[in-house]
Amino acid sequence: MSKKYKGKTCAYCGVPNSSESADHVVAREFFLVGERANLPKVPACRKCNSDKSALELYALCVLPFGGTHRDAVETLATKVVPRLERNSKILEELRRGMTYVLQSQNGGPWQVTATLPFDHARILSLFNFITRGLAVHHFDIHCPPSTCFTNVSYFNDRGRNFYRRLLQTKMAQSVRENLGNGVFEYEGCQSALNPQFTLWNMSLLGAQLGGSMESPGAVVKEAYAVTHPMGWRSVDGNAKAVAEALLAEAAISNVRLEGKPPF
Ligand SMILES: [Zn+2]
Repeated sequence: MSKKYKGKTCAYCGVPNSSESADHVVAREFFLVGERANLPKVPACRKCNSDKSALELYALCVLPFGGTHRDAVETLATKVVPRLERNSKILEELRRGMTYVLQSQNGGPWQVTATLPFDHARILSLFNFITRGLAVHHFDIHCPPSTCFTNVSYFNDRGRNFYRRLLQTKMAQSVRENLGNGVFEYEGCQSALNPQFTLWNMSLLGAQLGGSMESPGAVVKEAYAVTHPMGWRSVDGNAKAVAEALLAEAAISNVRLEGKPPF
């Protein structure tokens, strides 16, 4: 292990001198072997590394079923099936909650599609880690829970409009990447108002989520993330409360994964 990642501030919890190793912000296992060069890495402490790994394992077992990226079929066949065989608890969870539905896309032939029970809270927690990792990797700014709020949601139209409005504040820098041909696509920017104010949208494996009771018919691929410093107030002094209320109202919850029948 190179010294570059040891004894540094953990990118996730922000504790100084606590990092023990490098962590791939988006775990290497999401990518086929040939696509793993030059993935973003940050210093991480042991606890954050292990908490994030547990979330990654869940995402690696479940999200590929809704994958729409270029290597989705190959990934499902070669990686996910053996992975599930080793993780019987997650396999059982999926098996119990899966339902089959008939779907016709654009008037085409009817096909069997599966919807899977999907703990989107775990995926949003993973995106929360990824957001903090990307902020360090791209903007060299730590957004740990001790000093910063990080909200990640799947948005309905209202949420997306809100996000677009936030984008109209003056930005200091921005980034846009597509890792592994659609395995992880994201955009991020850092506000000129405060370095910890960053905005992100991201999609992992192009996985399609839908079936929310609150937004029937809506299919979402992208999660949206906002980080901002605690105690941060903008001009009207109340912006944080307004922003959080809006975020809660604009979020889609109870989404289910839509994809190929896995078993
Ligand atoms: Zn940590």
